[in-house]
Amino acid sequence: MQRTLTTYDQTRRALESGSTTCERTVEGYLESINTGKRLNAFLAVFGEKVLDEARAVDRKIAEGTAGPLAGMVVAVKDVICMRDEKVTCASKILENFVSLYDATVIERLRAADAVFIGKTNMDEFAMGSSTENSAFGAVLNPVDESRVPGGSSGGSCVAVAGGMAHTALGTDTGGSIRQPAAFCGIVGLKPTYGRVSRYGLVALSSSFDQIGPFAACVADAARVLHVMSGQDVNDSTSAAVPVPDYTAALTGNVAGLKVGVPWTVLGKGLQPEIRASVDRAVQRLREGGAHIEEIELPHSDYVISTYYILMTAEASSNLARYDGARYGYRSTTARNLSELYVQSRSEGFGQETKRRIMLGTYVLSAGYYDAYYRKAQKVRRMIQQDFFNAFENVDCVLTPTTPTTAFKFGEKTEDPLEMYLSDIFTVSANLAGLPGISVPFGKDGQGLPVGIQFVGRQFEESTILNAAYYLEQQEGR
Ligand code: GLN
Repeated sequence: MQRTLTTYDQTRRALESGSTTCERTVEGYLESINTGKRLNAFLAVFGEKVLDEARAVDRKIAEGTAGPLAGMVVAVKDVICMRDEKVTCASKILENFVSLYDATVIERLRAADAVFIGKTNMDEFAMGSSTENSAFGAVLNPVDESRVPGGSSGGSCVAVAGGMAHTALGTDTGGSIRQPAAFCGIVGLKPTYGRVSRYGLVALSSSFDQIGPFAACVADAARVLHVMSGQDVNDSTSAAVPVPDYTAALTGNVAGLKVGVPWTVLGKGLQPEIRASVDRAVQRLREGGAHIEEIELPHSDYVISTYYILMTAEASSNLARYDGARYGYRSTTARNLSELYVQSRSEGFGQETKRRIMLGTYVLSAGYYDAYYRKAQKVRRMIQQDFFNAFENVDCVLTPTTPTTAFKFGEKTEDPLEMYLSDIFTVSANLAGLPGISVPFGKDGQGLPVGIQFVGRQFEESTILNAAYYLEQQEGR
């Protein structure tokens, strides 16, 4: 069962009043990491190092020079580089690979006086929806340990949902922040493509990947986003768009907000209790003065196939660099160069990663490029256009985050297509480069959390944060 989570806002007040210290806060979280070990959320825990960081922050608080995230305890998905720490991507192929530098997001959070408690477990190379694809064992959902926490950022999500960190960094290529957030009952935000620097993020699918926060409440997510956003000279895809004050946007006022709901899309295969949560969310928004409009997303039948063609294509190309020669794992039995490549990759990569490398290589191959890759690029554009058309009339789009609540271990591992279908509501935002947020809203008959998703216009994170904040307030948190 889940306990009540401490938000960063609460800790910050306690730090300001002197009733706690950053060091004690960190000690508390280290303790819960220890008692929650069976959840397998962490691949590395920075015991002494994070305590040193905490003491340094305490000194700054005493001097009155502490930054905007002073004392925030952050867990980091093990696909984001931290200097002198391993970055394994939960893969055998990078098991002992140590990063030489900090990702930009790490630098920015550190400069704001956040402290880092450890690296979290995930699906290998962020491929998956359940965190069952980790080379280092699956992660358990703290709400019901017989169920998956979602993926691929399962460890980061459980770090927050299990009370082992205030916030955590995840990555979202097709839903990997929002879907686990929904499954574990916390907030997860995927920023607009280009909002947050990807420098120091190990690439999965470069035109989709974004780093974003998990948090116990919308306000905490807004704070982290504010610090991590903005252009970065080290990432040419990071956008030169000013970063607004996301916290100031949390008014809880939705009067006049136009919310689009693609009702026809919601008809298919939706768990009835999730549909009930959608209806209730719509009702609450109406009561707050929002206008609910029906919208059409005519190409939504193609989102899963388009996503899985393009993401595997990009992944197969990005993962070509793990060749046994330059990085990480090298087979010891190879007798020549070609065997070195084949054996290192065969022994180093897990099953799902291999499946995607093969699919991606296939859709990029000379004979099939036009039929698959090029066509999918065109459909991607049409899916994006559907959203742009909708945004002429509405300010954001509401859907559930997932078609079902958290499923059981092993339930979908035999059938990759079934697994891929759990991404049906999340992948469109990545295809279209739009921001999306999942906020917990209601539970199913078994007490499992339901997530509501808002998708916004590019760089309008403020709108979806405030809509999510409104629903959060309605839940009486
Ligand atoms: N579940 C999706 C996939 O397996 C999303 C992954 C992600 O966002 N990293 O591709």
